[in-house]
Amino acid sequence: MNKIRICHLYGNLLNTYGDIGNVMALAYEARKNGYVVETEIISIGDKFDSSKYDFVFFGGGQDYEQRIVQADLLEKKDQLQKFIENSGVFLAICGGYQLLGQYYFDAYNKKIDGLNIFNHYTENQENANRFTGQIEIKDAITGSVYQGFENHGGVTFLSKDQKPFGIVIEGNGNNGIDKTEGFRYKNTIGTYLHGPLLARNENLCKELVNITIKNKSNN
Ligand code: GLN
Repeated sequence: MNKIRICHLYGNLLNTYGDIGNVMALAYEARKNGYVVETEIISIGDKFDSSKYDFVFFGGGQDYEQRIVQADLLEKKDQLQKFIENSGVFLAICGGYQLLGQYYFDAYNKKIDGLNIFNHYTENQENANRFTGQIEIKDAITGSVYQGFENHGGVTFLSKDQKPFGIVIEGNGNNGIDKTEGFRYKNTIGTYLHGPLLARNENLCKELVNITIKNKSNN
């Protein structure tokens, strides 16, 4: 039977603003394509085996939960990196996106080490300011327009070797300065767009399902 296996990383801890809706939208779309969908939460103390999943979702969270998952996350680094390098489809939102990078300075100016799989880094904003509100971006590759909701104290800067996921049309995105939003590498997307993103942007959801299905036939 054709099966798509979804891993919801720390789904019990990192799941702000209905981020789980991304998993639901992806599963809905996959079922419409004739696939049976299995979703598993992989959390603290669980082993993440890269060969077991077709799609990984890593949601956003409060600073508190980001700190709680930090040590455990670092133990999963090798397998997560393997999944990403093998062109697995990986979507990380906000807190999850920050944790894929080098570090995040939280609202109390405390450093939370990231996975350091990617070189972006996240500082905090002065006077505990947050970027909150609707956001609209243009996909840096396809030109498609996506809408979402952002709420983050962190400001993220990409390194020279990273390509943005989108260009900001309205809202703040990575840092409110350079108009970049998120990053994309192979089939990994990091972004600040809650929404849930895949529920609000059917075109992106379909694209990610198509890549997931294509990956299965290549493997
Ligand atoms: N705690 C992080 C920040 O404030 C991430 C927030 C989120 O995931 N919504 O920047």
